Amino acid sequence: MMTAALIIVGAGHAGGRAALTLREEGYSGRLILIGDEPHVPYERPPLSKGLLQGSVDLAGCSLCDSARLAELGIEHIAGNPVRQLDPPQHRLQLADGQWLSYAGLLLATGGRARRLPQEQANVLYLRTHDEALALKSALRPGARLVIVGGGFIGLEVAATARGLGCEVTVLEAGPRLAGRVLAPVISEALLKLHRQHGVDVRLNVALESIHAEAVQLVDGQWLPCDLVVVGIGMQPNIELAVAAGLEVGQGIRVDTHLRTGVPDIYAAGDVCEFRLGGEYQRQETWRNAEAQGRHAALNMLGRDEPFEALPGFWSDQYDWGLQTVGVITPLTVSRVLPDAGLLLFYLDADHRLQGACGWGPGNSVAKDVKLCERLISARIALNPASLADPHVSLKHLLRG
Ligand SMILES: Cc1cc2nc3c(=O)[nH]c(=O)nc-3n(C[C@H](O)[C@H](O)[C@H](O)COP(=O)(O)OP(=O)(O)OC[C@H]3O[C@@H](n4cnc5c(N)ncnc54)[C@H](O)[C@@H]3O)c2cc1C
Repeated sequence: MMTAALIIVGAGHAGGRAALTLREEGYSGRLILIGDEPHVPYERPPLSKGLLQGSVDLAGCSLCDSARLAELGIEHIAGNPVRQLDPPQHRLQLADGQWLSYAGLLLATGGRARRLPQEQANVLYLRTHDEALALKSALRPGARLVIVGGGFIGLEVAATARGLGCEVTVLEAGPRLAGRVLAPVISEALLKLHRQHGVDVRLNVALESIHAEAVQLVDGQWLPCDLVVVGIGMQPNIELAVAAGLEVGQGIRVDTHLRTGVPDIYAAGDVCEFRLGGEYQRQETWRNAEAQGRHAALNMLGRDEPFEALPGFWSDQYDWGLQTVGVITPLTVSRVLPDAGLLLFYLDADHRLQGACGWGPGNSVAKDVKLCERLISARIALNPASLADPHVSLKHLLRG
């Protein structure tokens, strides 16, 4: 019988970050990182951007290489997923039948692309590195691509595919792009940008069926195409937790310390459902995977601190960038920037900043969004007229 280890299920971003943090923080016991993909932990944002374009490869998105994992004594089990958990016995079983005992367990199983009921050869999804490679090889100049879903994955693929010379149509069922998470004014800006780049964006449309060389819409229209990319969200990998009797909502439920109802089991990343502003929710962002992976590791080592990091995400499309931080509130102030970019400020009733969203060429809004993060933490009441005025520097507001 080997000594019980700390085990991380899911060798993605959150799981990989947790494993590296455990070693950085001095944990010297047995540490096992179990993944079902054949790769070392990697970051997914480049999958719809640099990796599809060919400017980044897997090594360029990886958190570390296998030599580093070995050097750190992190046992990486790849391509042999966990089949079941046995919390009362503090053990789990791998797909090959092997049982492993744990002293502490982190569930960082992320999610998979939500699929259409109909499987077909010309339909591709994008969640993993291998799916990105399959898509990359299909994005040839002149290829006619229909993208189902006008959320971030669909829009980033559209931008990259246009850059590679594909003909692109985006089908969005709702009335605006990325409508679940963005303000209408930003959805409008995205729509304009994609149309300027020659993407045929169709809103309020529903897909009837997919065929070998066309898709049919509910209104009877046929759109000829060579390839369909489906970006209709992701499905959290909660099945292990459900079968083990852990509390699950839209994701694996944790308390403020990222601990599930079972004291030696934690969850982090896309699969983790935690309270933010009183409501249970999941975050599907790089920033959350990074912060929660690290935080769960620290708490597994006994740090026992509440998770309080601000949420945030970014998206790059063509040569424009979007960045958000904090939370959206009904009280919004907007600032139009001289380069046609936009900053949105979300205030509470006392005019303290709760969240912000920046949209601009390249990385131009990064500095302002960073300052917004500091304004959120400072909790000072702000004058909406000053926020709206592009001549008033946010640094100045920060100084009070
Ligand atoms: C194409 C794409 C582009 C993105 N772009 C951005 C962006 O621009 N900005 C941003 O903020 N966020 C972006 N994201 C989101 C961000 O990448 C995710 O939020 C992040 O990867 C979540 O990390 P995670 O570790 O929770 O999950 P994952 O990275 O999904 O890792 C979970 C791992 O666990 C494995 N697993 C599942 N079940 C088991 C099992 N039973 N046994 C073993 N292993 C298992 C999974 O296969 C996977 O490898 C993007 C995501 C995608 C897919």
